[in-house]
Amino acid sequence: MSSISTDICIIGAGPVGLFAVFEAGLLKLRCHVVDALPQVGGQLSEIYPKKPIYDIPGFPSVLAGDLVQNLMEQIAPFHPTFTLGERVEKFEKLDDGSFQLTTTDGTEIHCKAIAIAGGLGSFEPRKPAVESLESFEGGKGVYYMVRDPEHFRDKRLVIAGGGDSALDWTIFLADVAKEVTLVHRGTTFRGAADSAEKVKNLHEAGKVRLVLSSNVTHVHGNGTLSHVTITGNNGEPEQVSVDAFVPLFGLTPKLGPIGEWGLEIEDNAVKVDTLDYSTNVPGIFAIGDINTYPGKLKLILCGFHEAALMAQGAYKHIYPDKKYVLKYTTVNGVPTL
Ligand code: FAD
Repeated sequence: MSSISTDICIIGAGPVGLFAVFEAGLLKLRCHVVDALPQVGGQLSEIYPKKPIYDIPGFPSVLAGDLVQNLMEQIAPFHPTFTLGERVEKFEKLDDGSFQLTTTDGTEIHCKAIAIAGGLGSFEPRKPAVESLESFEGGKGVYYMVRDPEHFRDKRLVIAGGGDSALDWTIFLADVAKEVTLVHRGTTFRGAADSAEKVKNLHEAGKVRLVLSSNVTHVHGNGTLSHVTITGNNGEPEQVSVDAFVPLFGLTPKLGPIGEWGLEIEDNAVKVDTLDYSTNVPGIFAIGDINTYPGKLKLILCGFHEAALMAQGAYKHIYPDKKYVLKYTTVNGVPTL
């Protein structure tokens, strides 16, 4: 459990949360960014890293993954800090007007302002309908995301799924784990053809076991997971000894705990004042896809604009008596923190 202190805590490391670090940095405000996903980039990294985006000013075309990399480069001079793979669960307003946020893993973040850049909400794993699956969550053998591949070194794994993430992790973990079995309910994969080909080659080379037309139907163990039952579409069951079961059936966004923070919510989004994208709770701002106001467009471009005005609002909230004079970045280059 760690404890962090910063000026603005940005919830969500999507493109808008990342750019907010830049805008806050220009005002010499430090940021800590938290994301429930193990990587930065929000929807761009999770849903469409290889898709070109055509409506970012100055870029006739940019791949989503490259835009995320560029944003990380752009904010590096401001030395943001990150907590990844943890969801912000609750906030508390302290007597001096500052905030204390707590994540799912117990990380505490003390900050003077909060910028919620939570996009469509926190991405939650789609769980297969397997009885007692929940009893092996929390480090006891069932993992819905690969946060650190080293965690699986020399372990026996069963991965389930037919999309890119099941294929990509099967390929990667084939060299890390002791045994990898990929279970897929069909015979063809939804993921990239090239990755499916690689998995088939690994199977033929004896490095991965591929079980098609099957599902993991039961999980067993006494406290920790010890084996799973794989049942073929023909009804034939097989028991396999495992250290970990990794169902990778994609992620679905949920507004999550933010919906219970006393913020004004409309249509699953946080209502804001377009003056500075503040919410009804002083010191808490909401930018990007998570907010709503008349005329809202869920576009990266609009989120960037909101980030700039939010930073001004956060500055005024933190330093009510200081006057800020707008300077262009070209006057002295990009200042650093
Ligand atoms: P997101 O990218 O959704 O990131 C939010 C992050 O917040 C997530 O990573 C989530 O895990 C995290 N989070 C949420 N709640 C919590 C919590 N409690 N604790 C910790 N973390 C949390 N837009 C364009 O402008 N141009 C395009 O061409 C374009 N193409 C698109 C194509 C597709 C297929 C899709 C799905 C969207 C597209 N969009 C496009 C929309 C664009 O992706 C979104 O507008 C943009 O991602 C919004 O950015 P964001 O930073 O607000 O949120």
